[in-house]
Amino acid sequence: MIAMIASDLNTAVERLRALIEDSEVVVPFTGAGISTESGIPDFRSPGGLWTKTRPIPFDEFMASQDMRDEAWRRRFVMDPHFTNAKPGRGHLALASLYRLGKVPAVITQNIDNLHQASGVSPGDVVELHGNTTFATCVACGERYELAWVKQRFDAEGGRAPDCACGGHIKTATVSFGQAMPEDAMLRAHELAGACDLFMSIGSSLVVWPAAGFPLRAKQQRARLVIVNREPTEFDEMADLVIRNEIGDVFGPFIAQ
Ligand SMILES: [Zn+2]
Repeated sequence: MIAMIASDLNTAVERLRALIEDSEVVVPFTGAGISTESGIPDFRSPGGLWTKTRPIPFDEFMASQDMRDEAWRRRFVMDPHFTNAKPGRGHLALASLYRLGKVPAVITQNIDNLHQASGVSPGDVVELHGNTTFATCVACGERYELAWVKQRFDAEGGRAPDCACGGHIKTATVSFGQAMPEDAMLRAHELAGACDLFMSIGSSLVVWPAAGFPLRAKQQRARLVIVNREPTEFDEMADLVIRNEIGDVFGPFIAQ
């Protein structure tokens, strides 16, 4: 099958609208591309932070105070990006579809909390890579706010604090080498298998196992829309491929 690539923005919006109206259960799957409009850099993109600075793998974070200090130093440097970010048009459109009852939940690879900020209930944001806007103890799971961690970090001259239980405190993200969250993976698997329209938005679909969800949706006979600036290896199986800017494509779907 040759995918239908929308030739221009109006065609893209028109075809997307028809697919959404024709569907009862729409499941969005979002990646970094939906948040660039909000000023969150795409760490994995060419020239992105992770191509210049090697991410700290989970085992190194756990093994070394120096690595934990460095991880937190980097996180606080990045903080203005996250604290100043507001939901973009893509986030707002998905929140509108969520309020209409079309979208039961949003699956995301993002860690920026912007789906929650746009009005999707936290329980309905399925975060495959966790969340960087708060921290947890890796031993006991106790939640810590970043302001508290920052205060302790500064007071101790740049030393990352530990939990009262002795465990290490880390942003609630999934680091390289850390197990994927089982509950989120299971929920995403169920959502992908029980929708009639799956929309992959702003993901290059190269990070497995997350990239398996569009495949599962398609195998369960859902229709598949891929909205991404660059081609993906799933384009050929998609019912609609859109390469326009995500904010432009989804702007018309924001409920006033
Ligand atoms: Zn603890």
